[in-house]
Amino acid sequence: MKAYVFHGPGQSGWEETADPVLGEPTDAIVRVDAVTVCGTDLHILKGDVPEVRPGTVLGHEAVGEIVEAGRDVHSVRPGDRVLISCISACGRCRYCREAMYGQCRGGGWVLGHLIDGTQAEYVRVPYADFSVHQLPATVTDQDAVLLADIFPTGYEVGVLNGHVRPGDTIVVVGAGPVGLAAIATARLLSPERIVAVDVTAARLEAARKVGADAVAAAQENPEQLVADLTGGLGADVAIEAVGVPDTFEMCTRMVRPGGHVANVGVHGKPATLHLEDLWSKNITITTGLVDTHSTPTLLRMAAAGRLPTAQLVTHTFPLDRMEEAYDVFARAADTGALKVVLGGPRRDVGAV
Ligand code: NAD
Ligand code: ZN
Repeated sequence: MKAYVFHGPGQSGWEETADPVLGEPTDAIVRVDAVTVCGTDLHILKGDVPEVRPGTVLGHEAVGEIVEAGRDVHSVRPGDRVLISCISACGRCRYCREAMYGQCRGGGWVLGHLIDGTQAEYVRVPYADFSVHQLPATVTDQDAVLLADIFPTGYEVGVLNGHVRPGDTIVVVGAGPVGLAAIATARLLSPERIVAVDVTAARLEAARKVGADAVAAAQENPEQLVADLTGGLGADVAIEAVGVPDTFEMCTRMVRPGGHVANVGVHGKPATLHLEDLWSKNITITTGLVDTHSTPTLLRMAAAGRLPTAQLVTHTFPLDRMEEAYDVFARAADTGALKVVLGGPRRDVGAV
């Protein structure tokens, strides 16, 4: 089969590789019908994720059809159309029993990381019973694939960890796909207003389309805007969806006493926690790797037309144009890419 294989920093390509085979009786083999590229894949290509071994097929988000299932797989069977979650879960360990699947002792984020992933014609999914979700017929591949990672991440690690409540003022710093998913799902909880902060005008425009009420360029004093909008109090919830020290520290300055800072970004460098200012403010700061416990709920909401998934897909490609898709995604500032989706109906590349 063909797959997108990582050979070390700066070296990767769409190439011929061995077909996956069942390894454990709990595995399933899935034919990939739609797949996307994540910002994390770009980090891997740069060498920022050293545990990814050369020879690994990348990708952790896909939709496809089960073509083979091990004898201990009971919840799906060949022919079923499924969403492959970015998190694989054994369903038995202590973390899985507490729905903290991201921390699963044998699974967690393994696809396209520790084992071969989804940017391929076929993929082996471990612990298939808990790692794939049957898809409602009314949800398209293109919409569903966004529920493999970015929607559960924005919702669980941003909105739910941030304890968003009706009437809140919410600030989302970083309007990439994950921040946009946080905005779209925060909207469902009837906040008073959502303020989006980013450095690029195109991302702020996208934020407005998915439900931000106000937008601010990071370089134009968003802290003052939030203070003005809240009578000087600050935001009830600040969601960090960038992953750099500056934006985390900005979130801790923008939140009101008693509020929540929900960190979503993946950080590579230490950030300063200004306890000299924060100690008396009764602030809750949360961190988290997505668990995908909300995926069944999000799938029902997508089926009911409640999620603006289509607005996040800016480009589509056939599967075999993976290298071009990576290029368009990596040059988002020039191309305007949010999410690129490959596969599905064999459509020509183009903005949708
Ligand atoms: P992205 O890189 O596409 O988006 C980041 C956005 O932040 C961009 O729009 C960029 O313009 C903006 N930005 C950059 N510097 C900024 C600044 N100083 N102020 C304001 N905005 C700034 O990434 P994404 O795919 O949307 O993911 C967002 C973060 O979430 C990443 O760090 C990613 O690794 C992380 N993530 C976390 C989890 C989890 O489980 N916690 C899962 C998936 C992704
Ligand atoms: Zn991801």
